[in-house]
Amino acid sequence: MTPFSLHRPDTVEQALAAFAGDAAWLAGGHTLIPAMKSRLRQVERLVDLSKLHALEGIEHMGDSLLVGAMARHVSVATSPVVKAAIPGLALLAGGIGDPQVRNKGTLGGSIANNDPAADYPAALLALNALVDTSRGTHAADDYFQGMFTTALEDGELITAVRFAVPLAFHYAKIRHPASRYALAGVAVARFADGHRVGVTGATSGALRWTQAEAALNSGGALPAVLVHDDLAADIHASAQYRAHLAGVMLKQALAAIGSAG
Ligand SMILES: Cc1cc2nc3c(=O)[nH]c(=O)nc-3n(C[C@H](O)[C@H](O)[C@H](O)COP(=O)(O)OP(=O)(O)OC[C@H]3O[C@@H](n4cnc5c(N)ncnc54)[C@H](O)[C@@H]3O)c2cc1C
Repeated sequence: MTPFSLHRPDTVEQALAAFAGDAAWLAGGHTLIPAMKSRLRQVERLVDLSKLHALEGIEHMGDSLLVGAMARHVSVATSPVVKAAIPGLALLAGGIGDPQVRNKGTLGGSIANNDPAADYPAALLALNALVDTSRGTHAADDYFQGMFTTALEDGELITAVRFAVPLAFHYAKIRHPASRYALAGVAVARFADGHRVGVTGATSGALRWTQAEAALNSGGALPAVLVHDDLAADIHASAQYRAHLAGVMLKQALAAIGSAG
């Protein structure tokens, strides 16, 4: 780890003022600190968000569920508001990592990092979410731009995510037995005007499964496997296996929400 200065602002305004030069936001530190320790990432200034309690809120507002960027996974998993509005989202958060990860990891850190096997990105895509930041709002469809890449600019702070409240939602994943990251995860949301499907883990970045959406929305045959030219393959699972798992997870998610498939 190389030397850096640490800043712990009390307000969002102070945080934005403290972000200067070669800086990074620090949420729970679950990804950032190991990356700094191994010198994959070196910064001169860390702006710690842990005192920004205003970014921890969870609120059901009309037809959307607002979750603050600093909401820990455990808070989403146990929130009565989330359980009432989108119970499948609480289940998703409760399936992230282990208790240590859930107690420190945050929604904002997860989607800023955008690991291709992270769970939340599939949910944001299926739930047609809006990502609120210090500079405006990104639709989830435009926000996720491939492996570890997002629409965020340097110094742009995520403040909250607004999930559209669906008629039904479920996320099914085959998790890696050690990390619990998704080998393949599929999120399905049913709205009055049709289904949206998000996939994570199976390709180099989270994406909408438009072929599955078209089948669901037209009553056509569901795809048995995920067909994509950028399927992920590594020591944990081949591309062919991940494509197959995505098809199985799609069926599980649909069965959980009682949608035909
Ligand atoms: C052992 C282990 C197992 C895990 N298993 C899973 C799993 O099963 N599923 C899963 O989805 N995830 C998993 N994770 C990831 C975990 O859920 C964390 O969310 C993720 O590591 C990000 O950590 P963090 O929230 O502490 O953010 P940090 O590590 O503090 O930050 C991560 C990145 O996001 C940036 N950032 C943080 N907050 C903001 C913000 N508000 N605005 C803009 N940028 C911001 C930081 O600058 C940094 O670049 C696992 C992690 C570990 C270590």
